[in-house]
Amino acid sequence: MVKVSSLNKSFGDLHVLKDVDLQVAEKEVVVLIGSSGSGKSTLLRCLNFLEMKESGSIEIDGVQIEPKSTNLNVFRQNVGMVFQHFNLFPHKTVLENVIEAPVVVKKVPKDQAIAEARVLLEKVGLADKEAVYPNKLSGGQKQRVAIARALAMKPKVMLFDEPTSALDPELVGEVLVTMKDLAAEGMTMIVVTHEMGFAKEAADLVVYMHDGQIVEAGKPMDLFTAPKQERTRSFLQAIL
Ligand code: ADP
Ligand code: MG
Repeated sequence: MVKVSSLNKSFGDLHVLKDVDLQVAEKEVVVLIGSSGSGKSTLLRCLNFLEMKESGSIEIDGVQIEPKSTNLNVFRQNVGMVFQHFNLFPHKTVLENVIEAPVVVKKVPKDQAIAEARVLLEKVGLADKEAVYPNKLSGGQKQRVAIARALAMKPKVMLFDEPTSALDPELVGEVLVTMKDLAAEGMTMIVVTHEMGFAKEAADLVVYMHDGQIVEAGKPMDLFTAPKQERTRSFLQAIL
């Protein structure tokens, strides 16, 4: 579903992604870990072309994406993204937030978009909140709306960039449950998170990044219990 080969990205003199290779099969869940500044967000942003790659190739669902020749707005519909800060439209209700992109970007008829949004809100446990404005929601509820909103575009891949890092501890669980449900339904997901419990339960592959490179990747149990690289070991010791 996702194939990244020899991806490089710099900001000025700062070489942030160095020959990154990553493959994610359909329905696979990949958890990306690594210390702050290692390039995790940049990698996700390159996959969604919020940042433009410098060299290397990015294939999504068998199609190689080139910013010059690909209509990025159409392509981006295939890749849903959920951020640390939820970025909901404050002046729109929950339901309006979820139908906005399908109606405006995809020209889905409003009735149909509303019906589909209600199914998604049910799925994320917020069916009773459709008429509420974001400022009346908890952080966990906002993030679940953000997930429903991303799903409304029927993406082939979902990218999550530290989706629970801004939440009070007691609200983390409800968002992780929503993400686990999504994984169990077969969504292809790349998740940057420090929630190792989520990684152990839901990830098919854990990828450890350091200084713009993938140092090591493995099944959660293998990587957590028997990391092969010294760097991975010291990172895990620091966070576990
Ligand atoms: P992570 O998500 O792993 O913490 P990032 O991908 O956000 O890491 O950042 C990797 C490096 O790139 C950091 O040194 C960061 O300061 C730098 N960086 C990220 N975005 C930009 C940008 N838009 N301009 C300049 N430097 C950036
Ligand atoms: Mg980041």
